[in-house]
Amino acid sequence: MLEITGLDVHFGGIHALKGVTLEVGEGEIVTLIGSNGAGKSTTLRTISGLTRATAGTITLDGTDITRLSAQGRVRRGISQVPEGRRVFATMTVQENLELGAYLRRSRGDKAALAADYDAVFDRFPVLAERRRQSAGTLSGGEQQMLAMGRAMMARPRVLLLDEPSMGLAPLLVQEIFDIIGRFNAESSTTILLVEQNANMALQVAHRGYVIETGRIVLSGPAADLAGSDDIRKAYLGG
Ligand code: ATP
Repeated sequence: MLEITGLDVHFGGIHALKGVTLEVGEGEIVTLIGSNGAGKSTTLRTISGLTRATAGTITLDGTDITRLSAQGRVRRGISQVPEGRRVFATMTVQENLELGAYLRRSRGDKAALAADYDAVFDRFPVLAERRRQSAGTLSGGEQQMLAMGRAMMARPRVLLLDEPSMGLAPLLVQEIFDIIGRFNAESSTTILLVEQNANMALQVAHRGYVIETGRIVLSGPAADLAGSDDIRKAYLGG
């Protein structure tokens, strides 16, 4: 469904992505794991159109979107939850979710919209309790949930998640990954998940890619990667 071929990104003299090739099939959760500065966020930002590729192609359902604007990609159903959540701090939880719904491609269906609000509040009960609270006063974990809920309200075809576990306590990390897994199973939404927490990412994903200094060095079924000695040594703490 989403195919990235030979992607190069330069920032001035820095060659951040070097021929990145990966694909995400319909309904799959694919994870891109790697250490600090490996190029994970740059890959996501290039897919969502926030960063320009200097070479390579990105196709969605066979259509080349490499030169499409970020807004054009949102309209085609690509929705990103950026690193560090970035909710609209002065707006309420409800208003943030409404903004997510504003991005959906077909807005006419009121019943579907109401069902999606219910589904988000069902997945994140804490957001239901705090519907009228301004988003900037939520805890870090709650803001992550809101950022994910907002992206879900857009009914994306492809959801791009940038380090959802960052800065969260272990119990909350587990909860976030459980929600990602359930959301994928229930909605069949295609997900590309970027993570430093390889352990959790490989538990929830179907397949994975490993990126090191801008290059994909390994790929395969998540269970195989989790069982590999190299991966265990480099990313899973032995
Ligand atoms: P982390 O897990 O720490 O977020 P990452 O794998 O997401 O790391 P990127 O943020 O993609 O890594 O960065 C890849 C490389 O590109 C790094 O060397 C980074 O310093 C560089 N880089 C990223 N964005 C820019 C930019 N706007 N200008 C210059 N260099 C950049």
